[in-house]
Amino acid sequence: MSSPDERAAGFSLSVDVAQMRDWVHDFAVDVIRPAAAEWDEREETPWPILEQAAKVGLYSLDFFSSQWLDPSGLGMVVAFEELFWGDAGIGLSLAGSGLAAVAVASNGTDEQIGEWLPQMFGGPGEVKLGAFCSSEPDAGSDVGAIRTRAVYDEAADEWVLNGTKTWVTNGGIADVHVVVASVDPSLGSRGQASFIVPPGTRGLSQGQKFRKHGIRASHTAEVVLDDVRVPGRCLVGGKERMDARLARIAEGRSSGEQAAMRTFERSRPSVAAMAVGIARAALEYSAEYARNRVQFGRPIGQNQAIAFMLADMQASVDAARLLTWRAAWMARHGLAFSRAEGSMSKLVAGETAVRVTEQAIQILGGNGYTRDFPVERWHRDAKIFTIFEGTSEIQRMIIGRAVTGLDVR
Ligand SMILES: Cc1cc2nc3c(=O)[nH]c(=O)nc-3n(C[C@H](O)[C@H](O)[C@H](O)COP(=O)(O)OP(=O)(O)OC[C@H]3O[C@@H](n4cnc5c(N)ncnc54)[C@H](O)[C@@H]3O)c2cc1C
Repeated sequence: MSSPDERAAGFSLSVDVAQMRDWVHDFAVDVIRPAAAEWDEREETPWPILEQAAKVGLYSLDFFSSQWLDPSGLGMVVAFEELFWGDAGIGLSLAGSGLAAVAVASNGTDEQIGEWLPQMFGGPGEVKLGAFCSSEPDAGSDVGAIRTRAVYDEAADEWVLNGTKTWVTNGGIADVHVVVASVDPSLGSRGQASFIVPPGTRGLSQGQKFRKHGIRASHTAEVVLDDVRVPGRCLVGGKERMDARLARIAEGRSSGEQAAMRTFERSRPSVAAMAVGIARAALEYSAEYARNRVQFGRPIGQNQAIAFMLADMQASVDAARLLTWRAAWMARHGLAFSRAEGSMSKLVAGETAVRVTEQAIQILGGNGYTRDFPVERWHRDAKIFTIFEGTSEIQRMIIGRAVTGLDVR
């Protein structure tokens, strides 16, 4: 049975996606939610939960690829909404390898996809992780400022990587790192490419591990690359394709695309879905609270001030989900984001999650401000969605360019 917003959009979830949603939801209820507060406090990757998810097939390449390739385009976003409804920190530990996997799946050769993606997930009893390393201390929003260098050693057919990456989800603890580096600094962002760093490669080490405001069950750290040598076959997409691309740029036949940007663009609706999951959790929790909490002899939800707040929260969550599903559907059907639909979904869902979780705290009053209730954690978790994978300002810049046709900066 599809919900009203699914019917209004003119599409319903397929039986397969609806069944998958219920299965992921049950895992979120039974396994993720009960563990959320503990792992938030521990600020560590929740390995036992990853193991449990691997055992049932939820943390697996098979699950990720089948949802990513779901014909409706909605598999991944529906799954992420449920996981992050459970908990965003644990959810990101379960989803973090996906960004590295998408970087290779979107731009890599069939051989690279076959060789490296299984090593980003592993299986029951040997859970593995992937990490996508783009950001640097001086290159966050400004991806073009990346300084990490990749130099080709022709005699050895190896690439040598040097630089420091920061804010890397699963950084240093991942089995496979995908690193964005500059191959030709004279071309700026257009001279960048992505490289796979295989497990155990010498010269890659973890720097500082960050202590964060939210999503604390997800590991975020610096990654230091000191004369890291990777085989020639680890250049994502292969050298022939990169050389041809650089030649087209040099001859002025192509403007050139940033490797990292392509990855971010494709993954934005999935990130939006994560934010929708947090917002929906806060909405449901605070609506239930408003029905039960009595002040002045009646449930607080009977006050228009509270009911109107919940009405706004519900409307924004549904609007964010519809933008998310539209972008995911467009991506699956090969439609270009000509009006920056991917960015719209990320912008609206991220800001909705921050606002709705803040409203949820307000509805819970003093209880909302304590760690005995989950809404304060959800509010801390929500904030990252206006920052990573392109800040809200960067999303507005991209949408602004699409709307005006001008080079908005
Ligand atoms: C928990 C966490 C996990 C992350 N995971 C990863 C990961 O796995 N891999 C990875 O590569 N990166 C990751 N990141 C990095 C993340 O993508 C960056 O933090 C983000 O892109 C912003 O970059 P910055 O922090 O350097 O901020 P800055 O770029 O320094 O921005 C600071 C402020 O200035 C604003 N600003 C910057 N430029 C403009 C402009 N032109 N116009 C208007 N405003 C502007 C920004 O919007 C922001 O408000 C992660 C970050 C965090 C916090």
